[in-house]
Amino acid sequence: MQNFATSLGNLSGESTLLYQEIARKIEKEKGIKTINFGIGQPDVVTFSKIREAAKQALDQGFTAYTPALGIDDLRQKIAVELSEKYGNIKKEEIAITPGAKTALFVSFLLYINPGDEVILIDPAFYSYSEVIKLLGGKPVYAELRFSESEGFSIDIEKISKLINKKTKMIVLNNPHNPTGMVFRSKEIIKLQEIIKENKIILLSDEIYDHFIYEGEMRSVLQDPDWRDYVIYINGFSKTFSMTGWRLGYIAAKKEIIDKIGILASNIYTCATSFVQKAALEAFNTYDDVKNMIELFRRRRDIMYSELKKIKEFKIYKSPGTFYMFPEVSNILKKWNFDTKSLAIKLIEEAGVITVPGEVFPLNGGKQFLRMSFAIGEDKIKEGINRIKNVIEEVD
Ligand code: PLP
Repeated sequence: MQNFATSLGNLSGESTLLYQEIARKIEKEKGIKTINFGIGQPDVVTFSKIREAAKQALDQGFTAYTPALGIDDLRQKIAVELSEKYGNIKKEEIAITPGAKTALFVSFLLYINPGDEVILIDPAFYSYSEVIKLLGGKPVYAELRFSESEGFSIDIEKISKLINKKTKMIVLNNPHNPTGMVFRSKEIIKLQEIIKENKIILLSDEIYDHFIYEGEMRSVLQDPDWRDYVIYINGFSKTFSMTGWRLGYIAAKKEIIDKIGILASNIYTCATSFVQKAALEAFNTYDDVKNMIELFRRRRDIMYSELKKIKEFKIYKSPGTFYMFPEVSNILKKWNFDTKSLAIKLIEEAGVITVPGEVFPLNGGKQFLRMSFAIGEDKIKEGINRIKNVIEEVD
């Protein structure tokens, strides 16, 4: 009998992995090659300049602990980069973390007392709700609105109604995983207004900020008053295809960053030393980033036009990220399915992995599948054709 802490409750891990496991079984049993639309990372190797810089840092023996908040050069570089885009941000307002997930974790840790409520936009990246619950907080959900012509939009009225004395924080993720939406500026501005009015904290996860194919993205850092209420999260995983390197960062006012330094020194000490050095070089790879985004734009266009051939799906062409989020309620109704059973059927009969919207984690994703276009063009075409065949066969 393991006496695990009660705070663990029924904490769950990344459920997308379950579907990969079923796929492996099918590959073995049926001898078919599965096509994986479940991928949550760019499929390109980290750019060579960054890899070389890591090797050099290692060879130079840059292997010891660094300051808890990260090496000065990198904090400075990030501050300059954010300042160029959004206004004056200082090195003292930046913390380097081992991945954006850790940045999110320490940010929640800083604020959540048992019983506090945190408003999540539903659907949401799966780990927000799990960490909030782990800390004794309560996630409450404001479902996104969806229309095939307009895409997804934040229900500001719903959020206003959810705010009460227990509300500590609202989490925004823009561009948005899993929908692929880049929220409209007016929605972000309105959200910032009600947050300021109610004196709560806005945790803004902008990790997909370079994956924009259409229109402009508004960062919460564009509000000159951001220091009063914003914790901004970003990282190297997606933009520089550095998922396995584990490097993220936080921008917030100095008082918050200093507290994060105290948490860091007790929890993880610092982000990996030579990875921080390598990350300095990442800022010299924007040509590679641009090429990667253009590659993803082409794949997005292909995925959209292929998905359009499935008449039961309603699709909004993602303006950002590398996910498409087709609405599949017609199929669900016809077959009396939920998205989990649909995803399993697609693996078993088409050898295609998708992520059922229900894992994100409540109602907002219930009628959708998440499909990543971080895979090759041929696979996108082949995979969607296989899905189409399964759907038409049953018709
Ligand atoms: N935030 C969102 C919205 C994500 O989709 C992800 C990764 O999938 C992360 C954070 C985690 O990023 P990192 O690899 O830097 O921990």
